Amino acid sequence: MPGCLQQTYRQSSDPVKPMPKSAYIHIPFCAHKCDFCDFAVVTNLEARIPEYCRTVVKEIEQRVSSKSPLETIFYGGGTPGYIDTRELALIHKTLIETAGISENAEVSLETTPNAISTQKAYDWLEMGINRISIGIESVNDHELTAMGRDHTRVQAFAGVKAAQEAGFENIAVDLMYGLPEQTLDSWQSCLDETLSLGLPHLSAYAMTLATNSPLLRRYPMGSPQMPDDDLAASMYEMLVASADKAGLKQYEVSNFSRAGYASKHNLTYWHNDEYYGFGLSAHRYVDGVRSHNWRSFNRYLDDYLGHENLEVIDAETRIKEAIILGLRTTEGIDFSQFKKRYGVDLLTKFGPKIDKFADQGLFAASSSHLKLTSKGMLLSNLVLAEFI
Ligand code: SF4
Repeated sequence: MPGCLQQTYRQSSDPVKPMPKSAYIHIPFCAHKCDFCDFAVVTNLEARIPEYCRTVVKEIEQRVSSKSPLETIFYGGGTPGYIDTRELALIHKTLIETAGISENAEVSLETTPNAISTQKAYDWLEMGINRISIGIESVNDHELTAMGRDHTRVQAFAGVKAAQEAGFENIAVDLMYGLPEQTLDSWQSCLDETLSLGLPHLSAYAMTLATNSPLLRRYPMGSPQMPDDDLAASMYEMLVASADKAGLKQYEVSNFSRAGYASKHNLTYWHNDEYYGFGLSAHRYVDGVRSHNWRSFNRYLDDYLGHENLEVIDAETRIKEAIILGLRTTEGIDFSQFKKRYGVDLLTKFGPKIDKFADQGLFAASSSHLKLTSKGMLLSNLVLAEFI
């Protein structure tokens, strides 16, 4: 039985508060552990997939106590696309029965390209998935090998094609830059080839490595094959220019889309809205409390309502988080909306800091909005750290 530190979301006697409109479900299984990966992932545990999925079902049933239709659902991982679709469907059915789902909900599934077959993609559509996010990372075999992926460029393109053949139109692809062996030329050709697919959404993240990452043992920081910060910054500028040229509008530091294809689920996070989280190490933000489940696979199964960490978000933290998250988006922060929601006049509270970054060309402040400039986006980690 799960431990006593149980957090269900609503008691029948509680006053009615808005329920989260988004849910994240973590599916930790991967066919292979990539050498750079620091996510909560398990391999060689396929025999325990049914047990895990039934635990997630129980977690959903016990955490969600009243219906309020979900507007976004995100199956992330790990590789949700790797497991039997019938297992995913069981979780999805439970979510629909407990929380409910709105008619136009965005339902996303993450997958590696080599986990996609046309039949599987049909099954995902049938199940209710309407957006697929494919981790291609690179289209250069040399780089894919260097970063320890288990797919080739041919498999990357084949995966996208299989999803399209099954009928997926809302397809997002992920790339990475700052990879070992990557050069400006290879990054440009990766962007060109990927963007020529004409897909409506692109995410691209700089590689960040945990200190115990196997990749670091092969390519220590400062080794000639590892791009330095200046090269990674040039790669970011190349990304922004290439996406723009291809008609994908930047809507967040690392995300670009055609009109109408921005990730509604991820916008939940950047708008500082609350969300459910279910599964191994899943994070949630419900009733002003952020918490996350156990990261140990066995511990999660034994204590699926327990948590590894729990933080009550006080008013000051909520304001800081709203600034940090809101400034990641290209729409920025609307001064009057911010005041209405958080009771704070940004210009009064953070005037000197805003002026400092505006003078450095990192912030653009109009009468209505505060935004990062393109230079500010490039240095977003440094700028936003000053609000923590
Ligand atoms: S496929 Fe994704 S989640 Fe799985 S090990 Fe590789 S990077 Fe990590």
